[in-house]
Amino acid sequence: MVTTKSKTFYRKAVGLMPGGVNSPVRAFKAVGGSPLFIQRAKGSKIYDVDGNEYIDYVLSWGPMILGHSHPSVVKALKKIIENGTSFGAPTPLEIELAQMIIKAYPSIEKVRMVNSGTEATMSAIRVARGFTKRDKIIKFEGCYHGHADGLLVKAGSGAATFGVPDSPGVPKDYAKNTITIPFNDIKAFKDVVQKEWKNIACVIIEPVVGNIGCVLPRDGFLETLRKETATYGIILIFDEVMTGFRVSYGGAQAYYGIKPDMTCLGKVIGGGLPVGAYGGRKDIMSMVAPEGPVYQAGTLSGNPLAMTAGIETLKILSKKDIYKKLNNTMQYLEEGLKDVAKKVGVKTRFYRAGTMFCTYFTDTEVVDYKTAKTSDIEKFSRFFRGMLNHGINLAPSQFEAGFISIAHTHTDINRTIEAAYKTLKSL
Ligand SMILES: *Cc1c(COP(=O)(O)O)cnc(C)c1O
Repeated sequence: MVTTKSKTFYRKAVGLMPGGVNSPVRAFKAVGGSPLFIQRAKGSKIYDVDGNEYIDYVLSWGPMILGHSHPSVVKALKKIIENGTSFGAPTPLEIELAQMIIKAYPSIEKVRMVNSGTEATMSAIRVARGFTKRDKIIKFEGCYHGHADGLLVKAGSGAATFGVPDSPGVPKDYAKNTITIPFNDIKAFKDVVQKEWKNIACVIIEPVVGNIGCVLPRDGFLETLRKETATYGIILIFDEVMTGFRVSYGGAQAYYGIKPDMTCLGKVIGGGLPVGAYGGRKDIMSMVAPEGPVYQAGTLSGNPLAMTAGIETLKILSKKDIYKKLNNTMQYLEEGLKDVAKKVGVKTRFYRAGTMFCTYFTDTEVVDYKTAKTSDIEKFSRFFRGMLNHGINLAPSQFEAGFISIAHTHTDINRTIEAAYKTLKSL
């Protein structure tokens, strides 16, 4: 595949932006080579500036569940843009999207729109702290909740460690309020809660971890979190920025039947425009300004373009049998990928929740960050590059989830499976 133009753009971009990109993982650091510069995308396909076509499993890291540039979303955006793009004042569109979210997520009684997933988690935690008058938070190793200071902590090994920042620039004093526990470790969780509950404001978790691939909660894990947090007056926050309207219409909380106190959303609810939202129990959300004393604001929050793209996306997703269809396509891909790995004799582990998925190059069952790390990264990188050469766009890191959209056809999947067969054989 010729990628001369992408390489030229990349050289130019490196001089202008850190690493040539506006978000680190785009830079292909984890897999080698340089990133593709994208010209356009339509449905399940994405096209680079050299004119190459790829079947896209990144989907802007999740939001494009309808496929790229869906006609209904485009039409609605064109219509709304004529009326102005932002007013800094309330609009009926915000009510419409809020109603759709609240209807789909019974745990959310009131919601606040923001501009990104990072803003959603950061704000939800501030509210939880304000509500409980406690400072510490619990997060799980490998869970990504955006790039706010106290959340860039995964901590070292051991059952539970007090936070050390992952990134320079995060004050130690700040990170020390973040307690990190391995995902799926019920015992470590209970131990920390029993010892520290008086200081713990909230537990924040990706109910399915999409930011180390795709790690599923063990039976009873989320139930334990729910039970223990309720006992000790700790706020349970589900970060469903990735899983919301993705794992199912009602997110992971509907899928697993758990009712968190607060929920963070993003990605799909913006239909490809910058958006985030956080919401939850009425008594907790009443803490948010101007109803309550916890301050949080946003110049462009709830802007008409993002609301419109979100509303149109959710309208289509709420149609009958959409998730059934998505699930069928996903299952077809799952079976195909497992099948070729077996045929070729490459040891892989495949996981998925709804239409989030990941293939790890390991023989170990992946249940947390440590076991995810057993994947053979070198092998993944070769797989990634091979697939790209065959016109298949996967996330450029082993520790990211893949996604499909309603635009992915069985023909797309057949091409993907064929490419996987050829690539795995040549590893
Ligand atoms: C993507 C993501 C975020 C951050 O969202 P941004 O819009 O990139 O700030 C937070 N939490 C989870 C689970 C995510 O997948």
